[in-house]
Amino acid sequence: MKLLRFGPAGHERPGLLDADGVIRDLSAHVSDLSGHHLSRDAVSALAKLDPTTLPAVHADTRLGPCVGRVGKFICIGLNYSDHAAETGADVPSEPVIFNKWTSAICGPDDDVIIPRGSHKTDWEVELGVVIGKDGRYIDEADAMSHVAGFCVVNDVSEREFQLERCGSWDKGKGCDTFGPLGPWLVTPDEVGDPHDLAMWLEVDGRCYQNGSTRTMVYRVPYLISYLSRFMSLQPGDVISTGTPPGVGMGQQPPIYLKPGQRMHLGIEGLGEQCQSVVAEPDS
Ligand code: ZN
Repeated sequence: MKLLRFGPAGHERPGLLDADGVIRDLSAHVSDLSGHHLSRDAVSALAKLDPTTLPAVHADTRLGPCVGRVGKFICIGLNYSDHAAETGADVPSEPVIFNKWTSAICGPDDDVIIPRGSHKTDWEVELGVVIGKDGRYIDEADAMSHVAGFCVVNDVSEREFQLERCGSWDKGKGCDTFGPLGPWLVTPDEVGDPHDLAMWLEVDGRCYQNGSTRTMVYRVPYLISYLSRFMSLQPGDVISTGTPPGVGMGQQPPIYLKPGQRMHLGIEGLGEQCQSVVAEPDS
C-alpha cells in the first residue's frame, strides 16, 4: 500500500494511492498518518478498505510529507562506502548518527530554500525507514517488525554549516525545507528487499547520483537495533539511511545548488520527488 498525505501545508489529510494512480481520501477512517496510526494493525485495517469506495482527490493536489508529526528524524552518515570515499572519509567503524530537526520536514515537491548566508547547499537521495512499533534494545532479527514502511528522503545539506563550523553536523542538516519526505509511505510487503533498490538524483536534468541500496554498509535491521541501544524508537520516527555517491561536494570541482534549479530524485518502487530551489529572502 502507498500511503500519503495531501492538502495545504500544516493541514494535510491522510490518503492512499490506488492501483490506478488515483489519490483516495482516507480521512473518514484515520485522523492522520502519524504515531500509533502507523502500527501494523492500524495499517492492516486501512489495507482492508476497498479504495474504490474512498473519495477520489484531484490529481494536482499538493502532497505533504508522507508521515505526520514525526517524533525523531534520525540520519545515518557515510553509510555507503563509495560515498564515504568521495567525501574523503573512511567508512566508520560504527554508524554515524546525526539529526535533522523535524521543522525541516516538507512535502516531496515543495520548494527547497537556500538559507541566508549559504553558498554550499547540496543534495542526498536516501532511503527513509518509518517506525511503526515502539521498542528499545531491539534484536536485529526482530527489527523489521518495527518498520511501518519506506519512503524517499532528500537529505538536503549545507556543507559549510555542516563541516566548517564547530560542533556537530546538525547545523547544516536541519534548515527549513531540508527534509522532503515522500511522495508515499510504501508498506514493506510492496517494497520487497529494501537492500536492492535503485536510487537516483538529477539537477536540471543532469544525473549526479545513480546508485543502489545494495551498497549500504550498515543495513536496515542493524541500524534499527543499533539506534535502539541509545534511544527508544517510537511510531512516527523516521530514519534516513545515508546516501550513495554523487553529491555536489564530491564533484571536481564541487557544485552546489543555485536558486532556479530543479532537483528530481527517486527510489525504485517508492516514487519520485521534484523540488525547485529558491533563495531565502534577505529580510
Ligand atoms: Zn545523508
